[in-house]
Amino acid sequence: MLIMFKKLTDDVKIIKRGFSVIHDTQSGVILLNIICAVFEAVTPFINIYLSAEILNELGSGKDIRRLTILVALTVGLNLLVYLIKQLLYRLINICNSLFENKLTMRMNNKTLSTDYANIENFDTRMKRQRINDLRNVNGRGIWFMIYNMRNIIRSLFVIIFAAVMSYKIFFVSDITGEGTFYNIINSPLVSFIMLALIIINVIFTMYANATSAKKSYVLFDGGVTSANTVAAYIVDYVTGYNAGKDIRLYNQKKMLSGEFSSLIDKLKPNFNQLEKNQKKYGNINSAMAVVISCLVYLFVGFKALAGAFLIGNILKYVGSINEFISGFSGFMNGFTEFRNNNEALRAYFDFMEIPDSLFHGTLTTEKRADNEYEIEFRNVSFKYPGTDTYALKNLNLKFNIGQRMAVVGMNGSGKTTMIKLLCRLYDPTEGEITLNGIDIKKYDYDEYMSIFSVVFQDFKLFSFTLGQNVTTSVDVDGEWAAKCLSMAGLDERLSSMPKGLDTPLYKDFEEDGVEISGGEAQKIALARALYKDAPFIVLDEPTAALDPIAEFEVYSKFNEIVGGKTAIYISHRLSSCRFCDDIAVFHEGELIQRGSHDALIADEGGKYHELWTAQAQYYAENTGNH
Ligand code: ADP
Repeated sequence: MLIMFKKLTDDVKIIKRGFSVIHDTQSGVILLNIICAVFEAVTPFINIYLSAEILNELGSGKDIRRLTILVALTVGLNLLVYLIKQLLYRLINICNSLFENKLTMRMNNKTLSTDYANIENFDTRMKRQRINDLRNVNGRGIWFMIYNMRNIIRSLFVIIFAAVMSYKIFFVSDITGEGTFYNIINSPLVSFIMLALIIINVIFTMYANATSAKKSYVLFDGGVTSANTVAAYIVDYVTGYNAGKDIRLYNQKKMLSGEFSSLIDKLKPNFNQLEKNQKKYGNINSAMAVVISCLVYLFVGFKALAGAFLIGNILKYVGSINEFISGFSGFMNGFTEFRNNNEALRAYFDFMEIPDSLFHGTLTTEKRADNEYEIEFRNVSFKYPGTDTYALKNLNLKFNIGQRMAVVGMNGSGKTTMIKLLCRLYDPTEGEITLNGIDIKKYDYDEYMSIFSVVFQDFKLFSFTLGQNVTTSVDVDGEWAAKCLSMAGLDERLSSMPKGLDTPLYKDFEEDGVEISGGEAQKIALARALYKDAPFIVLDEPTAALDPIAEFEVYSKFNEIVGGKTAIYISHRLSSCRFCDDIAVFHEGELIQRGSHDALIADEGGKYHELWTAQAQYYAENTGNH
């Protein structure tokens, strides 16, 4: 009992929170849906009431003037309500879709602003996915609360209107008919039985609907949602045009269709079961509705025959009682639906409340024209969340202002991790990183990041215009963007584009979008970093996708590209780093050597010498083969 009460209060709490999200996201949406619900509720009663009045008039006085007024009123009111409803629907559609977009934006903002550690975390992706699955497969979510609330309010008003219109029939009336039968029909006991039957019918329908909903919920939860996610992934992969090459070359068609059909096969029994459930409960509900309808007709009909009211009122009473039944079951179902929807609300809050642990300081960074920013790693060690091996171990490293440093080492030696810490994508597990002597955590994050331009190896370009890709803004400073593209070695390509900086990249949205090679993409990413014009420039394998000539161009222009900035240049290809006077060698998460190329190569027992010899041999062999 206590557990049930606790569950109920939890349910109420989360529903309240859901509504405050709706209110905060799009304030008018609740009120508009309530107004619409009232109009929807009143509509059938206008017709029920006026048709009954017209029939009554036809059956008794036949007063033409009154009949004309009643008919005109019926037509006029129907037209008016229709127009108001159309207007409301239009407003509601706008408001509801604004709400949906803003809610999606809220979730996107969470993804955009949460700690980077959360982004790399599988659990975060699954939490967001669950919201989508519950919406796409079960139709649940915060969105659903609006429709359900409208349904409950409409039902509530239907109950009120129907009760007002029909309550008299359940009271003892003055009857003209004589005989025991009519007296029984007119007795309080029969009225009570009739009411009891109506309520039993509603409760039964509600129970059948709730059971059916629960069963379909179970059917569509768990395995089905994940199967659906994989199916959506396959559709995405197949329709994304850049997978076309691999699909053909590796004959992936068979595997993809096989995977897809096995997912469909997996879902099939669930769909069959769902259909069976719906049929079973639908049939029970329909049978109950027919029986109760007949009883209502008989009850109202006999009362009319007994002379309790004019014949036209049969329509009024039967219509109102039927509305009452559907309103009552809509009302009760609404509450069950709210509780069924709570799973989706929990999924929403689970995602939105993923905690952030990165410390956010408030210090502003000094704006220095001389770019004299000094960065130092002091005894920094780092483990990725959820792992217990050190990706970086006791790193002590100082960047010399205005110099170029190369960071070299084998794959997995911790080079990128060091940059991630430098950019505060993660905080060190131990030790500290300082900027001009102050722990970088203490700075305002955006201020701190404004001193870095970074190109990661797994950079991403947008399918927007070239200009937007360089400036990452809608306002493009064309001259500077073109200069940066030229510094990155893309000037010829740019001048061959008829639309210049306005040329869309890729063909995702535009027919005249241009396809670019991996090397060109890397140059655009480099131009983007240059455009930011920050005092620190960090390039993580910036020439990996470039051909040797383009690579040579980047090196020879490196001084021009970097200017007076401090540059950190990461590569596993040692030959690409020779032009840096300061080389840091990483191995298994540790900084093991540091110095100029000549000094490092002279240390024959050192890692640098070993890597250099191995790579020189490899390149020599490869060159020999060609
Ligand atoms: P490098 O840039 O030198 O190739 P990284 O810094 O990317 O190396 O990786 C250092 C180590 O950290 C590797 O063992 C790698 O597997 C591990 N690592 C990198 N990223 C993650 C992550 N997100 N979660 C767990 N381990 C990671």
